Amino acid sequence: MTATAYKAAIFHMTDDPSIVGVANSHEYFKEGMLVVDNGIVTAAGHCVDIEPTLANGTPIVDHTGSMIVPGFIDTHIHFPQVDMIASFGEQLLDWLNTYTFPEEAKFADPAHAAECADFFLDELLRNGTTTALVYGTAHKQSADALFAKAFKRDMRIVAGKALMDRNVPENVRDTAESGDKDSRDLIAKWHGKGRLGYAVTPRFAPACSDEQMTRAGQILKDFPDVLMHTHLSENVSEIDWVQGLYPNSKDYLDVYDQFGLLTDRSVFAHCVHMEGHEFQRLAEANAAVAFYPTSNLFLGSGLFSLKEAEKYGVRVGLGTDVGAGTSFSILQTMNEAYKVCHLKGDKLNPYKSFYLATLGGANALHMADKVGSLKAGNEADFLVLDFAATPLLKRRMKSCKNLDETLFVLSMLGDDRAISHTYIAGHLQHKR
Ligand SMILES: [Zn+2]
Repeated sequence: MTATAYKAAIFHMTDDPSIVGVANSHEYFKEGMLVVDNGIVTAAGHCVDIEPTLANGTPIVDHTGSMIVPGFIDTHIHFPQVDMIASFGEQLLDWLNTYTFPEEAKFADPAHAAECADFFLDELLRNGTTTALVYGTAHKQSADALFAKAFKRDMRIVAGKALMDRNVPENVRDTAESGDKDSRDLIAKWHGKGRLGYAVTPRFAPACSDEQMTRAGQILKDFPDVLMHTHLSENVSEIDWVQGLYPNSKDYLDVYDQFGLLTDRSVFAHCVHMEGHEFQRLAEANAAVAFYPTSNLFLGSGLFSLKEAEKYGVRVGLGTDVGAGTSFSILQTMNEAYKVCHLKGDKLNPYKSFYLATLGGANALHMADKVGSLKAGNEADFLVLDFAATPLLKRRMKSCKNLDETLFVLSMLGDDRAISHTYIAGHLQHKR
């Protein structure tokens, strides 16, 4: 017998509340039960319905008083930036040159990359993030180290070595040829191994030569199920720079489009300063964008318009963008997302926040058939949220009148302390 049952409140999103309405977007079982067999969810529902169907002797893990939700999905994060998170004072381009590239240069050393990958993945698990789309550095060994460590933890991680062959310091630069070869070697070694996937990862258009961009487009053609992951329209100086480098392109997005990097497998980080026609083009290509409020606020980049992305029907995920983002916590990221939407004149409801952090992220990464919700057949990546994690959270939770309020308070007051357990494919990988 391999099945295990978990008793707790159970909540998960089953659709986008902006499209189907809040009432049709989720399932909630106040006294719920989740059944996991061999790493796969076999049932999630009311305890009273499920418990009598369990085979004799099925172990029941009791998390009564807490809430089980799907593991969080971080759609954009840089693992080599852990040691320079919270670096003072600069906006994007100066921040990269002053703090980021010197730190990334250290990842030429495989031992350093391995040590950092261990810390990074454990920190994700501590914060309830079970899947992430991750940047390495230009060094092949950075991505290699991350994949090896993620494989050991059986995590669903998609990553890539960064392609960056110009306008960056020598010690974090590759060449068009080496970037091409290293990406292909990493795909051969890791893509589809266990739960791992590869993303072709151009740093951003200013750091990639035409030849490198052309080769990146060719890799995507050769491997139609790998993702494409890059930055887009984060900062106004960056956008001006791109316009200067590519005077014949219609806009920043058009640069990627011209090199075959705008497809339904593309995930664009930021998209803070986008024109309507760019969102339109993203929607036509069925590409995804991702929303990083802590990063955009920290670097003073600007305010992402979730409403505008929704208006054009663009798929959106949520993420931290550590180390420009200031927290690994997706709950804290929901908190800042709410404030950014408020400043844009919109009210981000908590169901939408949880959608972006789970199923929305899974949709953005083409893995909604595997993770992002607790539907039967999905991989059993889930968290236990502790309503009494801090004195303030415990006190405030007592006066919550309904699920709407409970979710909102969790997303405002919750952080890593609220994650009491993180399960990966049914195995406990973090216990607070
Ligand atoms: Zn980034």
